[in-house]
Amino acid sequence: MRVKINVTGIVQGVGFRPFVYRIAVRNSLAGYVRNRGDAGVEILLEGSEQSVQSFLRDLKEKKPPLAQMHNVITTKLAGKNEHEKFTITKSSEKAEFSGSVIPPDIAICHECLQELRDPKDPRYDYFFITCTNCGPRFTIIERLPYDRENTTMREFPMCGFCQKEYADPLNRRFHAQTVACPDCGPKVYLTTRDGELIQHGDPVREAGRLLSEGAILAIKGYGGFHVAASATKEKPLTTLRKAKHRRAKPFAIMARSLEAAKSFAEVNSKEKALLNSYARPIVLLNKSSEYCLSPLVAPDLHDVGVMLPYSGLHYMLFDRVDDAAFVMTSANPPNQPIVKDNDEALKTLGGTVDYFLFHNRKIAYRCDDSVLRVHGTRQSFIRRSRGYAPAPLMLKEKAKRCVVGLGGELNNTSCVLLANKAFISQHLGDVENVETRAFLQEATNHLIRLTNSHVDAVACDLHPKFTTTNLARELAEANGWQLVQVQHHHAHVAALMMEHAVDEIVGITCDGYGYGVDGEAWGGEILLCTRESAGFKRLAHLEKQLLLGGDAATRYPLRIAAGMLSKKVNVEPWLMQNSGHLPHGETEAKLMLNQLQKRVGITDTTSCGRVLDAVAAVLGVCYERTYEGEPAMKLESAALKGKDALNLKPIINGNVLDTTQMLHAIFENIGKVSTADLAYSAHAYLAKGLSSLAVEKALEHGVKNVGFSGGAACNQILAEIMRRTVEAAGLKFLVHEAIPAGDGGVSFGQAVVGGFFEF
Ligand SMILES: [Zn+2]
Ligand SMILES: [Zn+2]
Ligand SMILES: [Zn+2]
Repeated sequence: MRVKINVTGIVQGVGFRPFVYRIAVRNSLAGYVRNRGDAGVEILLEGSEQSVQSFLRDLKEKKPPLAQMHNVITTKLAGKNEHEKFTITKSSEKAEFSGSVIPPDIAICHECLQELRDPKDPRYDYFFITCTNCGPRFTIIERLPYDRENTTMREFPMCGFCQKEYADPLNRRFHAQTVACPDCGPKVYLTTRDGELIQHGDPVREAGRLLSEGAILAIKGYGGFHVAASATKEKPLTTLRKAKHRRAKPFAIMARSLEAAKSFAEVNSKEKALLNSYARPIVLLNKSSEYCLSPLVAPDLHDVGVMLPYSGLHYMLFDRVDDAAFVMTSANPPNQPIVKDNDEALKTLGGTVDYFLFHNRKIAYRCDDSVLRVHGTRQSFIRRSRGYAPAPLMLKEKAKRCVVGLGGELNNTSCVLLANKAFISQHLGDVENVETRAFLQEATNHLIRLTNSHVDAVACDLHPKFTTTNLARELAEANGWQLVQVQHHHAHVAALMMEHAVDEIVGITCDGYGYGVDGEAWGGEILLCTRESAGFKRLAHLEKQLLLGGDAATRYPLRIAAGMLSKKVNVEPWLMQNSGHLPHGETEAKLMLNQLQKRVGITDTTSCGRVLDAVAAVLGVCYERTYEGEPAMKLESAALKGKDALNLKPIINGNVLDTTQMLHAIFENIGKVSTADLAYSAHAYLAKGLSSLAVEKALEHGVKNVGFSGGAACNQILAEIMRRTVEAAGLKFLVHEAIPAGDGGVSFGQAVVGGFFEF
């Protein structure tokens, strides 16, 4: 019999054709297997019916670990057999199926790591050793099908030895597109900050030695450059903080091994599994009592972002030094995407670093490291990027149309929703300027092409002035796509609904800012969302508070604290006493008092983030937000050492949770109760208040699910207290596990509203 089989899913770049070859030969079948231009694989089989059945069983049961099969379409063919044996043939450009995609980058596998360390192996010490089961994919593929000439490996023709392995069906590198060796593959080299070559026989280990001695290096990896430094020496970290204008933002670190990570951080079994997974994300680990890294790594936080080496190069960096870890932070200039090209690196990083560790393979698509945190046994994405993107989130049902979501403004991603798959892009950063807009556009187009999607609609935020909103309008106009505008918090809750396949939910969304349907600043909302309408009902929210000086209040939380306290007390003495924490001191404090009195230069917000900021300022935990979420993150770190000493009863007026009296109670107890206990009490108040309000509303509307979304849902204390309240009421409590709770999940939520909900 003759059959044609088309397989969709993640089947290119995961050793799928070699696998098909092996099971075809084992089952005595003739024919061919080839990659297609739509990221799928096409198989032709000729042989007995029994052999074909046995082949199909093997296909399902023995697939390579990294492959994901979404559809297996089998068609019987008429005609005579034409093939004498089974072969892997030249790829076809054909692209009629949609929804397949290439795999994410994959960390070095166990076998390759062993070869890297084996002096008898031809790839001994080769920094970019890879095989069919590991290595970069997403970041080197320019177009489909996944053949070497369509990747940035095309500049490195295989040598005889590599070619032989590539052609050997019994070899692990049979048809591995990234196969290379010291003779034919990419080369690594060390330069000065000006790009002058430094002759050295072992540039990677020399780089490790320089780091250990206190130098700052830019190191080119798979998806972009890292800026690296010692994690224990103060001097390079101080220099780095100054040069990067990052006074306090935590630096991620790379530990040499799991054991090394355990010497300064606590690692539970879930965290261990994540650290070791082939995605190798950064995992936020609690600092242990033996924490021995510099306080400059993650100042005033209880945790530190740790990842393990994910390429041969990373392992080799640690070979000749004793360091347990190095700082390895994404090299991105302020408000720019991560640096990926060598010239660009010299230009933008030359002033910061002492040396460059370059390699000469181009990066096709940039991709930052992913960041996760673990709450109990649940994973919570802070950033979903390398190792995960562009693998799809599989949904329980199919969308009515294909929708592209462009996200919001900060920490953005884009998303292509196609049938029952949501392809979420790598982390794109803050989309506010020309460079980041171009990156968003490029990454989104790439995703549409890779998945062979035919887009019907484009979804974006409600904010009239966001760069993403403007881009969505242009795309809708140019392509005849329908434009769907989705309120920010509605997108958060819709994302949660579809992640858990529920039809209705009362969603609590807490974050810094989202443009409300009334044009005001929202961020502490309780929404009722159902599948029946494209809209939602705002059931309740936090009390409106004054933002003294608009954006300045977001930067300096003393401003929001002053606005809140002024409702209860004369804030003048307190503000004057603390005016040293304002950039313009007493003058600024006086101006603020004047503004408060005359009610000018003030806007309203219901943001939960701003209330946490105010608590942080009142407690002296943080006076300036130098990175997104800083005051709230530091407040959580402080609270984790405390308990609910005040045990405040939530004050609910109608559909509004009072926050003024809470802050006032904190204020009154300073000096009497520890800062940690006060910080915890503030969390407990907000969590209890919001969740009991949500429970009340859910019961009123007969809804069984209460969810928690938005950036503040990464906060462990808030999430745990809410969970207890909601579950105690016999309702289900839902949080994000597969996508970020923060704004990295907004593009998916927008696409969900456009693709699933009724209009
Ligand atoms: Zn490998
Ligand atoms: Zn070679
Ligand atoms: Zn948000």
